[in-house]
Amino acid sequence: MTSFAYKDGEMHAEGVALKAIAQQVGTPFYCYSAEALRAAFGEFAGGMKGLNASLCYALKANSNLAVIKLFGDLGAGADIVSVGEMQRALAAGIPARRIVYSGVGKKAGELAAALQAGVGQINVESSAELETLNAVAGQLGVKADITIRVNPDIDAGTHEKITTGRKENKFGIDLDLARDAFAKAGKLANLRVVGIAMHIGSQLTTLDPYRAAIVRVRDLIQQLRADGHRIDRFDIGGGLGIVYADEQPPSIADFIQVVGKETAGLGCELTFEPGRRLVGEAGVLVSEVILVKPGVSKTFVIVDAAMNDLIRPTLYEAWHDILPVRQPRPDAATIRCDIVGPICESGDYLAQNRDLPALSAGELIMVRSAGAYGAVMASSYNSRPLAPEVMVDGMRFAVTRPRPTIEEMISAERLPPWMGN
Ligand SMILES: *Cc1c(COP(=O)(O)O)cnc(C)c1O
Repeated sequence: MTSFAYKDGEMHAEGVALKAIAQQVGTPFYCYSAEALRAAFGEFAGGMKGLNASLCYALKANSNLAVIKLFGDLGAGADIVSVGEMQRALAAGIPARRIVYSGVGKKAGELAAALQAGVGQINVESSAELETLNAVAGQLGVKADITIRVNPDIDAGTHEKITTGRKENKFGIDLDLARDAFAKAGKLANLRVVGIAMHIGSQLTTLDPYRAAIVRVRDLIQQLRADGHRIDRFDIGGGLGIVYADEQPPSIADFIQVVGKETAGLGCELTFEPGRRLVGEAGVLVSEVILVKPGVSKTFVIVDAAMNDLIRPTLYEAWHDILPVRQPRPDAATIRCDIVGPICESGDYLAQNRDLPALSAGELIMVRSAGAYGAVMASSYNSRPLAPEVMVDGMRFAVTRPRPTIEEMISAERLPPWMGN
C-alpha cells in the first residue's frame, strides 16, 4: 500500500502529510486515497478484459459520494441494499440501469422506488419477495428484471458475522428450493428472470469457497435451463478480502481468472460486486492521543477516535494495524498497550495488547485498512459527531463530508409539543 507512506519522517497520504490535514480538519478523521481507489478499480477492470462481465461497486462498504463518483466515472455500476444507497448512487451520476438492488428484506415501497427509478436488476432473496415485487411491478405497469439469489451452503471461512452463504444464514434461497422459486418466478407475469445471483461472505482470503460455490450454482443453472428458464446473468457477489494483519488474500487478477474459468462455457454475463477490496486499504482513520494512562499490567493509550467511529475491532474482533503518524526512530523502544477511545464501554477499543513505540499526548496515530465498513458503520453514540471524511488526490485534499456541529446534531431533534420550550 504505497499510497500511505512515511516521507521526511511524517506519514503521508499520497503527497499530503496527514498532520497537515489534522491541523485543518481536526481529529479524528477518515482519509481516502484517490490513487489507491483507482488502482484497485484498475485491477478489476484489467482482470475483466476479455470477459463478458460488469462491475457493480457494493456501496455499503463506503458510500461517501466522492468515492461512489470516483468509481462511477471509471464505469462502475452500483450494488445497493437500500433506497438510500440508490439515491446516493444516482446522486453520484451512476445510471439507474447499472444499479443492482440486493437485500433480504426489501419493503414494497422500496421496491416501487427502485422500479420507478429504473434500476437494472433486482436480486430477489425469497419466495415472499417474488410475490411482493410482482404485485408492485403490476401496479406500476412495468416488468421487473430479476435474478434469484441462491444460498450455495458454502462455508466462506471468515468471521461468523460476515459469512452469508451457509444454510443457517438468512441470505438467499436454499439450493434445494431454488428450482421451485424459479418455477414460481416464471409464472409471475410482471417479473422477467434474467439470471442467478450469489454472495457467499466477506473478507474471503482463499478462492476455494468461490470455486465450490460456483460448481454448485453451475449445476443448478443447467437444471434451470432444462426447466426452460433463461439464465443470462450470473452475479458472483463480492467478498474478496484485504490485508489487515498478515492475511495473504488472492490477487484480484487470480480471483477473476478463477471465476472466469469456473464459469467458462456457461454463456452468462458475469457481475462482480466488490466492496471491501475496492476501498478497504485505500482508507485510514487518523486520531490524536488524548492521554496515556499507565496501568499495572499494561498501558492504556486513550485516543480521540472510538468504537462509534470504527466498530470493527469490537464487532468482528478485527485487527487493524496502527502506526504513529510521526515516523518512530528505528531503535525506538516499544510498550505493550491498548489503544482505546473515551467511550464508557469496555468494548471501546481500537486495538488490544499492541507493542507500539511510546506515544504521548497530542501525537497522531493512523489506523490502517479503515476504508471499508468504517465511516459507514459509525454512529454518534455519546453525542460524538461523525468523524469527517477527506479525500486526497496527489497534492490536493478536500473534505468530502464535514464534521457536523453539536448544534446541527441537536437541532435535528424535536421536543414534544406538551413540553413547551
Ligand atoms: C456486502 C455485499 C457485497 C460486498 O461485499 P464485500 O465483502 O465488501 O466485497 C456484495 N454483494 C452483496 C449482495 C453484499 O451484501
